[in-house]
Amino acid sequence: MTKILIAEDNATNRELFRELLEARGYAVDEASDGPEALRMLEQAQPDLLLLDIGMPVLDGFAVVRAIRENPRLAALPVLAVTAYAMQGDRERILNSGFDGYLSKPINAKLLVKELDRLLHKGKERNATARPSEGESTEGDSISKKRAATAAGNNSSDRD
Ligand code: MN
Repeated sequence: MTKILIAEDNATNRELFRELLEARGYAVDEASDGPEALRMLEQAQPDLLLLDIGMPVLDGFAVVRAIRENPRLAALPVLAVTAYAMQGDRERILNSGFDGYLSKPINAKLLVKELDRLLHKGKERNATARPSEGESTEGDSISKKRAATAAGNNSSDRD
């Protein structure tokens, strides 16, 4: 089951998100501030984080920075939700490590569309992360084969 963590300091908004997400069949966890969100990400390992920007202690920008700096969390899709409607915020948000951005009040159709897009993105990241480990092993064996071939050529040259 696809699991989504909601990090949002407003209890009414958390409830609203939970209802929207559970109605779509997602499993939902909740955090009410940034530090709690970072703890829960390590424990609950959700497929996506819905992250409010305006939160006390650690705001959304600080939380997403910590996520991108943590190798275990760096590939996690993070969708920003914010009440900020100022021009330029969208660009600032998308340049800060978030994968998407929705402004409040949340449009349920847009939310679902963004979740589909970002969950797909998360799967692609995981799929490309694994083969790269295999590639490096393959690369090693290819260079060993090349070394062996080169050694063989050398010995045939001597003959
Ligand atoms: Mn807030």
